[in-house]
Amino acid sequence: MPRLSEVIAALDALWPPERAEEWDAVGTVCGDPDAQVSRVLFAVDPVQEIVDEAVRLSADLLVTHHPLYLRGTTTVAASHFKGRVVHDLIKNDIALHVAHTNADTADPGVSDALAGALDLRIVGPLVPDTSDPNGRRGLGRICELDHPLPLRELATYAAKRLPATAQGIRAAGDPDALIRTVAVSGGSGDSLFGAVRAAGVDAFLTADLRHHPASEATQHSPLALLDAAHWATEWPWCEQAAAQLDEISDRHAWDLRVHVSTTATDPWTAHAASTFTVSSSPSSSSGAPN
Ligand SMILES: [Zn+2]
Repeated sequence: MPRLSEVIAALDALWPPERAEEWDAVGTVCGDPDAQVSRVLFAVDPVQEIVDEAVRLSADLLVTHHPLYLRGTTTVAASHFKGRVVHDLIKNDIALHVAHTNADTADPGVSDALAGALDLRIVGPLVPDTSDPNGRRGLGRICELDHPLPLRELATYAAKRLPATAQGIRAAGDPDALIRTVAVSGGSGDSLFGAVRAAGVDAFLTADLRHHPASEATQHSPLALLDAAHWATEWPWCEQAAAQLDEISDRHAWDLRVHVSTTATDPWTAHAASTFTVSSSPSSSSGAPN
């Protein structure tokens, strides 16, 4: 049975912490390096429901994509929800380790898992990491569809292949436009519009798209947008990461039990389709501004 320090060293080789963004907070949050590890759980968010799942599983190590403390803290008192997470982890001998932006840009990384969930053919990174001589690491991925689909069908397909959320998939652009190439980026991707335009793809699949960036991007060119729930675009990484650790465990004869969380931690829980159409409202013909 490996020690936590050995498992962490293997995870750091997959997602080197020095490749994380400067503002990020990756690495081990709690855990005894000498503790033995037999069961590992992967999840997107280090929230209470996930800690409860880790306790139920008798996991020794929880690996999450999102940091628990991104901006630091001066207290881990259990009266605060994050302090409660720390207390429950330590009381149950569960270590917490975070791989965030270092997992985003890895090869394979978060966007490879997203592309894989949709069976897209990966051409290369959207924003290549210039320090990678092989040109495979970087943010986002440019992909091709083996069988081009109209935007509306691609949205329906993505909704089937990504874990279910209240939001589902929103699409922007002509629903009948044929999509042959698509850039994907797990998590919030609206800082990548420049790279997406430069790549000349037909569509961009990401999460957390806001009105102004989305409106400007679709005005600028006929780029189609697909907006999924942030959690749903990153959850496929958990399966990919678990498979990577499984393979390492086999190679070292560690006999680890590696699990992927089945708890949805998308904060949005309900969605209502709109029924009020502005154009059919008599008062709208008066032409009020805005
Ligand atoms: Zn994220």
